[in-house]
Amino acid sequence: MYKITKSNKLKNVCYDIRGPIFDEAKKLEEEGYRLIKLNIGNPAPFGFQTPEEISRDIIRNFSDADGYSMSNGLFSARKAVMHECQKKSIKNVDVEDIFIGNGVSELIGISMQALLNDGDEILIPSPDYPLWTASATLAGGKAIHYRCDEENYWYPNLEDIESKVTKTTKAIVVINPNNPTGSLYPVEILEGIIDIARRHSLIIFSDEIYDKILYSGEHVSIASLADDLFFVTFNGLSKSYRAAGYRAGWMILSGEKSQAKDYIEGISMLSNMRLCANVPGQLGIQTALGGFQSIYELTKKGGRLYEQMNYCYNRLINIPGITCTKPQGALYCFPKIDTQMYQIDDDSQFIKELLIETKVLLVQGSGFNVDTPDHFRIIFLADLELLAEALDRIEGYLRKRRAK
Ligand code: PLP
Repeated sequence: MYKITKSNKLKNVCYDIRGPIFDEAKKLEEEGYRLIKLNIGNPAPFGFQTPEEISRDIIRNFSDADGYSMSNGLFSARKAVMHECQKKSIKNVDVEDIFIGNGVSELIGISMQALLNDGDEILIPSPDYPLWTASATLAGGKAIHYRCDEENYWYPNLEDIESKVTKTTKAIVVINPNNPTGSLYPVEILEGIIDIARRHSLIIFSDEIYDKILYSGEHVSIASLADDLFFVTFNGLSKSYRAAGYRAGWMILSGEKSQAKDYIEGISMLSNMRLCANVPGQLGIQTALGGFQSIYELTKKGGRLYEQMNYCYNRLINIPGITCTKPQGALYCFPKIDTQMYQIDDDSQFIKELLIETKVLLVQGSGFNVDTPDHFRIIFLADLELLAEALDRIEGYLRKRRAK
């Protein structure tokens, strides 16, 4: 008998949003339980359909989607992204500086594979969207986590970033607005990050997939603030356009591109090797970026997303032992829970027990590279009735757990 084992490359790779707790949830569903799944930022199943204008245009052009497109993507899609760069003041961007991918996910992978040699360090926020840490690790790099301060609206701690730069640091990752914290960064913080990157010759990767899902404040693309550094900015259709299943995202190379020629060649090579992104998905990009931005209706006061965010946040902070920074953007609350009051020393275990008791599925904070067991993430895409049901169950469970 021989054993088939996974590659050593996967040894330290961790992506817990769809990890072991997912298997536990599947088991419960197979036993016939109806779960309330507040674990994944997937708008469509909660009634947030892709705007009809986008899906209709895809259907209209579907017969043109039989063949491969250019590896870096359809010209019309890249041109629309280029115009979006102009709107966001990201300078010095040509259609050739834009790469379309199967979601931002694929492009994160490509950007890391093309850059990192074994042992190269990359600064990634904690908490982070864990695909960044996983992709950097899979590429052979070393993810070094910098602190974001909960007591300061979860903004990146600039001193911590500076103290973690070494001779082998290649880049800083910024996730703004942030998943899981919902933090939206002010210009001063972005300028502080630029200052560090400039002094240490680092690339800035900026994941801005939630840039239009804002409940307060305005989003500034970090790449709009300097042109003497090399930036790679990521965005896509999954969140603002509620089209996660179309798998359409893009990556923008901007700023001081001349110094990154060799790296860009690497990106092009990897992009060529996967031939092209899903073409029907690409067909939606031009319409999405050009038309009426219905996401703004959903995120302003009275809009469905805004009201759900507010409700979820207010319910959470009224539970004893729970505090939460109010999200300024994205789709998540990331509350802190008093581990003594609720006797938690392993947050995965806590989330599992909560699932078994309440049939509500959340994600543990350690899934976002937080090294203390005192956070969890809850999405607020569910309508108010379902959210109320979920929060009633969570609150009831915590009351029982407290009384133990
Ligand atoms: N970046 C962030 C911060 C995310 O939260 C997500 C998905 O949740 C992604 C990237 C992946 O997006 P896509 O659907 O475009 O692959």
